[in-house]
Amino acid sequence: MAAQLHPSTRAVFFDAVGTLLFPNPSALVVYADVARTMGMELSSGEVRTRFLTAFRKQEAADRVTGWVTSEERERERWRVIVHETLQGVPNPDACFAELYDHFAKPTAWQVCPHAAAVLKELNTRGLVVGMGSNYDARLWSVLDGFPELAPLRDRTVVSAAVGFRKPAAEFFREVTRVAGCVPGEILFAGDDIDNDYQGATAAGLNAVLLDDQHREPGITNRITSLRELVG
Ligand SMILES: [Mg+2]
Repeated sequence: MAAQLHPSTRAVFFDAVGTLLFPNPSALVVYADVARTMGMELSSGEVRTRFLTAFRKQEAADRVTGWVTSEERERERWRVIVHETLQGVPNPDACFAELYDHFAKPTAWQVCPHAAAVLKELNTRGLVVGMGSNYDARLWSVLDGFPELAPLRDRTVVSAAVGFRKPAAEFFREVTRVAGCVPGEILFAGDDIDNDYQGATAAGLNAVLLDDQHREPGITNRITSLRELVG
């Protein structure tokens, strides 16, 4: 669906986690493994339920504060999520330290197999490319392991550094500033309907939802692979 790129598109920005970068093994497996090394057995279903509950609680807390964030806030978010997900483990702080460090390493992640080709093609077409992520400073050490994503480095916007996270308008204002064009000339591609798609759209950017699981059939601007951006 090459129609995602309008003639007026001058920049394409990508979400990081779930769009270009994927935890491998999955976060749920890693959490369960860490719990096991500390002597607690948790089923994958249990980890999933606890994780999602804890994660959503933090999303709701951020909504109340107008999506303000910082490195400290992000660290605290993950500390609470780990504590709540692994509730009952004897030493939750040690689990948190291990998990926090784990996800800072490139070896914890895999890159979208089409990333290099898609970025090259966008570059060939003269488009500015960048990244807009709700991750934190750990994104930089992760990116060190992925030369495929090097074209995005100079225009990578990280919420913890901006002070606001997606879906805040302030975050997308910073994306727009970094892109060096007006909002309507930017296409934002991401896998989260609220943070990426709705957030970018509300800020006047164009958005495309990466929806490989077909969860949001009602969304018009939807792709199931990043290849469709240049297909
Ligand atoms: Mg994402």
